[in-house]
Amino acid sequence: MSSVSGNAWFRTLSQLAAVLLVAGLLGLAVGHFWPALALAALLVVAWHFLKLHDVQQRLTARRRLQPQHGHGIWNQLDQLLYRGQSEMRARKQRLLAMLRAYRAAADVLPDAVVVVERNQQRILWFNAAAKALLGLRHPQHRNAPVASALSSLPMAQWLAAGRNAEPMQDVASPADPDLRLQLRLLPYSEEFWLLIARDITQTMRVEQMRRDFVANVSHELRTPLTVVHGYLEMLEDDDNPQWSPVLEEMRRQSLRMTRLVEDLLTLSRLDARETLIDETVPMSPMLASLQREAEALSQGRHQVLLEDAAQDVDLRGAGKELHSAFSNLVSNAVRYTPAGGQIRVRFAHEPDGGACLSVTDTGHGIPASHLPRLTERFYRVSNSRSRESGGTGLGLAIVKHVLGLHGAQLSIVSEVDIGSTFACHFGADRIIHRVPSPSGVPAP
Ligand code: ADP
Repeated sequence: MSSVSGNAWFRTLSQLAAVLLVAGLLGLAVGHFWPALALAALLVVAWHFLKLHDVQQRLTARRRLQPQHGHGIWNQLDQLLYRGQSEMRARKQRLLAMLRAYRAAADVLPDAVVVVERNQQRILWFNAAAKALLGLRHPQHRNAPVASALSSLPMAQWLAAGRNAEPMQDVASPADPDLRLQLRLLPYSEEFWLLIARDITQTMRVEQMRRDFVANVSHELRTPLTVVHGYLEMLEDDDNPQWSPVLEEMRRQSLRMTRLVEDLLTLSRLDARETLIDETVPMSPMLASLQREAEALSQGRHQVLLEDAAQDVDLRGAGKELHSAFSNLVSNAVRYTPAGGQIRVRFAHEPDGGACLSVTDTGHGIPASHLPRLTERFYRVSNSRSRESGGTGLGLAIVKHVLGLHGAQLSIVSEVDIGSTFACHFGADRIIHRVPSPSGVPAP
């Protein structure tokens, strides 16, 4: 390349020298050497300006100009520019084809995809599914603020959370209220966010069918079970002493089935609710009741301790459900702690202004590998131990569900053969400060 451009320079400079030489000779011949030389130089400069104009034409022209033939430096520059332009055009076309392919791919996605400009929170682009799922239209929603384009959704608060925005589950589509959507926000760069809406109508329907099925089966089983259990209770062991162990086992199993059905019904009821009633749940009677339950279940085999370190506060929530959750923890502590162990129920303040109810035992403990799955339905660390202790495998699932409906968290700390602590952490918004009674004793 450099030898080619060297040749071009040589050729152009030789031409210049030749022109000046001829002009000089002609000037000498007619007796006007300097004027002839100046005229020739002017013509050369004019010619170069003409070439410069051509270059400018090439760079600014909309259509493609063919390069001029020739071997001078200007021709070579022209050819180089032409080649650069051709390469750029080919690259542009390749990029355009890729962009079209990406757009076509995004358009056939079943999920709605909306590109949002982060600072202004405006819609930059959306795919075809966004029309059907979110009701967005061209061109009116192009560059429209997201909050106003999707005004039926709680966008402003959600977008304000930015990277921390949790997916919005089961929201009605602005285009069709029968469509249920899951919305997710993916901040993929400093400038742009991707808003993705997925149609989960079918999933929600199947989920509802599953819940209805479990609720119906449990409900249908309850009556026959009550009847069987009733008759078993009526059968006297003394009439047929040889049947006594069998009858005892049948009673035990029917009781277990009844408990299972009750727990399944409790879970179904919790599943069907999105929120629970909000009432003041007095904690002193609640703690006293938990202590009584633990003592009744333990029948003197354990030491049951109660510590109320937050006597000035109560909880706000659904009393019946909270009681059911706490008593599940107490019952577990009794059932999984060998005789002679200790069970401590503690209610205390938390540094964030919330409160925590914890149940600590000195029982078998749980290996760390099981902890993440402990609140799944029917998940047991040891099947035999759970069955022996009369467990249904649903207790902690109920606890987690009830706490979830109260915006509270369950934490589990456990060490094998040392014991476990199950703690329910309630946020400050769930705390009610008891108004002290005039006598100085806190009002119940
Ligand atoms: P279950 O009815 O079987 O007790 P849960 O959902 O209440 O079902 O508990 C799930 C499992 O967690 C139990 O099977 C048991 O293995 C373990 N677990 C629960 N609480 C305790 C505890 N306090 N100490 C040891 N293991 C426990």
